[in-house]
Amino acid sequence: MSSGRLKDFSRLCIHTITTKPWEIETAVEQYAAEGVPAISVWREALCGRDPRRTGERIRAAGLAVVALVRGGFFPSVSAGKRKEALAENERALHEAAALGAPLLVLVPGADPRQPPETSRQQIREGIAALLPLAEETGVRLAIEPLHPMYADTRSAVNTLAQANDMAEYFASPWVGVAVDVYHLWWDPDLEREIARCGAHDNLFAFHICDWRVPTTDLLNDRGLMGEGCIPVRQIRGWVEEAGFTGYHEVEIFSDRYWAEDQKSFLRKIKKVYLEHS
Ligand code: ZN
Repeated sequence: MSSGRLKDFSRLCIHTITTKPWEIETAVEQYAAEGVPAISVWREALCGRDPRRTGERIRAAGLAVVALVRGGFFPSVSAGKRKEALAENERALHEAAALGAPLLVLVPGADPRQPPETSRQQIREGIAALLPLAEETGVRLAIEPLHPMYADTRSAVNTLAQANDMAEYFASPWVGVAVDVYHLWWDPDLEREIARCGAHDNLFAFHICDWRVPTTDLLNDRGLMGEGCIPVRQIRGWVEEAGFTGYHEVEIFSDRYWAEDQKSFLRKIKKVYLEHS
């Protein structure tokens, strides 16, 4: 079943990485001026800033903070590196709390020097170790499964079924899943797994963009909605049927769009958001 057309921007959120050439202060000002009601903040965008003050600035502009992106990258063959990763995630949780972000998105990570199942075990251990601080800081954790092309170094969690398994293993209100259409659109089980995710109250975030054909870069050639082959509106319908009422987060890494005038890019995002999401 596919969903109806979106009528307004009330559920639109943009990731700071989408308009990477802008400093976060500019992004906040411009999103607010264009009536974008929410922002997800990448940690890079906070560099050299006090997250608390940045959070205040965002709220003063009338925007909601949806998530801090990103923690994770738990696995390594080196126990020392795993420990460092955990410390980095703890810093990320404190940053999220200071910023006022209710959610930390986890890119799970992988180490190609070990089997994926070993990496998944280390991801489970990393989340288990992080969970008490998540609860203490009031910041939820969203496991984001990544497309299998990133299974070597970025994520040993590659399907929504795997992310659901992991979230259900924790059975905690503080651990859920981020559904990103770029990573999951190809999955024949997607509709069923989205329903399962919602049924367990684990659907924490929804990221949108498009898969350009042909894709010229496996990291930085994401497209605007409608520009590629992802049935974004259909997937949004599944997500809504699963009970999701949160924001639609536009997350686009694109050398092509980063080279453009960001103001006109932002207007394009709004236009295609209504037409294709
Ligand atoms: Zn994402």
